[in-house]
Amino acid sequence: MRLVLLGPPGAGKGTLASFLNKELGIPHVSTGDILREEMKNNTSLGQEVKQYVESGGLVPDEVVIKLIENKFSSDCAIDKGYMLDGFPRTEVQAKDLDALLNDLQKPVDQVIYLDASLPVVIKRLTGRRICRNCGAIFHMKNNPPKEEGICNECGGEVYQRPDDNEETIQTRMDVYLDNTKPVIEYYEDQGKLKKVDADRDSQEVQESLMKIFNGDR
Ligand SMILES: [Zn+2]
Repeated sequence: MRLVLLGPPGAGKGTLASFLNKELGIPHVSTGDILREEMKNNTSLGQEVKQYVESGGLVPDEVVIKLIENKFSSDCAIDKGYMLDGFPRTEVQAKDLDALLNDLQKPVDQVIYLDASLPVVIKRLTGRRICRNCGAIFHMKNNPPKEEGICNECGGEVYQRPDDNEETIQTRMDVYLDNTKPVIEYYEDQGKLKKVDADRDSQEVQESLMKIFNGDR
């Protein structure tokens, strides 16, 4: 199954991706992870990415597309399918991505849009805490670390992202929706969009998604 995951920050993409990975064995391809990996491995593209990131600029679309191309043509796990997360965020990106994936003969089957409302996203993100060391995610109310400020998994420091505050979340959501609306329409026109109510808890979201998948088989 070849999927694109869309949804504003706090819609639960990460949680859903790890569920689908366990359930269906589909690799989770996050463009954020790919960028970090390239920088860490200090590849030539990674060095280029680093320059953009350090100057506070956006990484150009063609660089991200190139990285996705490298990943998709080198990682044989992708033959089973993929869940692409973090890209596309604009209509131009969606079209470029389609062109690439068609070339690679791995076109997108379905696009899952996790539709979460602002109040729910605010509740989730303001309570979110992240381990600085291993990236484990906690929530002050729903899933607090056993010991305050310390990661259950690795003992690392658990912190709050500075942009997980109400005002910034509102702005991030506005920007996301503005950019993504045409992307959603683009996939809707192709008949590939599946919209899921992501205000519900993660288990309900997972169940309704499995129903969608089963209905399609
Ligand atoms: Zn940790």
